[in-house]
Amino acid sequence: MNKNDIYEIKIDDLGNDGEGIGHLSTEDKKSFAVFVKDALVGELVRVRILKVKKNYAYGRLEEIIKPSPDRVQPVCPEARRCGGCLLMHMSYEMELEYKWNKVRECLERIGGIVNAGSYMEKIEGMDNPYFFRNKMQFPVGVNRDGRVTMGFFAQRTHSIIDLDKCYIGHPLNEYLIKHLKPWLQRWQDRTGGFIYNEMAHEGLVRHILTRVGFKTGEVMVCLVINGDSLNVSKDAADELMSALNRGVDEYNEHFMEYPLQSRVRLASVSININRDKTNRIMGDRCKILWGNDCISDYIGDIKFNISPMSFFQVNPIQTKILYDKAVDYAGLSGNENVWDMYCGIGTISLALAKNAHMVYGVEIVPQAIEDARNNADLNAISNVEFFCGKAEEVVPRFYEERRNDAGSRPDVVVVDPPRKGCDQTLLDTISRMKPDKIVYVSCDPATLARDIKILTEKGFELKKVGVVDQFCHSCHVESVVLLQRKNM
Ligand code: SAH
Repeated sequence: MNKNDIYEIKIDDLGNDGEGIGHLSTEDKKSFAVFVKDALVGELVRVRILKVKKNYAYGRLEEIIKPSPDRVQPVCPEARRCGGCLLMHMSYEMELEYKWNKVRECLERIGGIVNAGSYMEKIEGMDNPYFFRNKMQFPVGVNRDGRVTMGFFAQRTHSIIDLDKCYIGHPLNEYLIKHLKPWLQRWQDRTGGFIYNEMAHEGLVRHILTRVGFKTGEVMVCLVINGDSLNVSKDAADELMSALNRGVDEYNEHFMEYPLQSRVRLASVSININRDKTNRIMGDRCKILWGNDCISDYIGDIKFNISPMSFFQVNPIQTKILYDKAVDYAGLSGNENVWDMYCGIGTISLALAKNAHMVYGVEIVPQAIEDARNNADLNAISNVEFFCGKAEEVVPRFYEERRNDAGSRPDVVVVDPPRKGCDQTLLDTISRMKPDKIVYVSCDPATLARDIKILTEKGFELKKVGVVDQFCHSCHVESVVLLQRKNM
């Protein structure tokens, strides 16, 4: 097989990034996998080979000879180029089925669970899987013709796809982009280096972050800049404010056309200082240009203050469903001691606290723990205690110190680790703590299944699995699992 060869291939599987996978037999009868972005299972496609490796190859989709009945025209015209929505060419029903199956397969193949589907609830999809994100981060740049571009990176690159509108962000973003782009262009034309150039590490404005409180309507805009201030001219900041206000006003004239049907108002405008030559979007410091230093929003009836650098779940509607499930699986009566490992800003901890005796949260990022404590105060929740540190260090230490104290045994342990899953030491400690239940919230079914295998070997039993679609049109799958201790 050589680069630029053309093959007809039947797609029989989907990979981790939603790419189609077909198999060719080579002369020595070995099966050879070909990865084809944008192709769906069941499709017969013509591909041009782009890159050949030892056991597999990448092909470019040249023609769909026989399309899948699940193929749809993506709502967004840029879906194929943009690195954001990798599954928009698939019907939403099919996408939900794909995600549910991904969890089932991982549980069976990696977790060693027999007939995993029988433990799984129906996947929770969105009625309207568009305009659901509360946070957007738009990179800005200048193209060859000197025109300002603002949008998203193409998949696995740093070339910016210029967008007027994004179908998964809050609809306000379209109106903000419409007024921000001319403002950026004007100052780029006037001063030359207003827009950041990533290659040369020169220029000022790098990214624009927006956040909208879905319940409060509060809007945050934060400009990430390669500098300490926006001091090109006082007019620049004034013009920025009028651009943002025009965007908000125009959206408010149209808000009835969108799913949330609520007005918004500008609440916080800031800059974030990031002078490093780095892929990290945000730097460590913010300065307020106008309004408050944070916005607030709710998940259920719990209020959160969110600053530009805070972590906050991006799909507030589905997050509520996910946390409700986690709380439901925990099955609390009000007397329990609960641990919430990897607690972030305390979102799950606070949701659990209402029905628990005491909730202990552990999180590695100091700022997140500070946010968690403030959020507890903000909601007058006092039966929570937060520890800052690695869960795999804090929890064993706590266990050693207090294991003989009456009432120190946790009744329920909740974990919500990052994609790499739980640390082995932590899983050991959890099993020694002998909780009645473990509720595992996961953003990666493969590491979830690996950890479930470990926990089932340590005497826990899989009881229930929920899958909640938090990141519609992407390949990310969020699930929540209930494990119960045997011989209780
Ligand atoms: N439960 C929270 C956050 C989950 S994201 C929510 O739903 O909002 C996972 C969190 O684990 C992140 O906040 C990350 O900072 C934290 N984390 C990563 N490694 C950790 C470790 N070893 N110990 C404790 N927390 C860790």
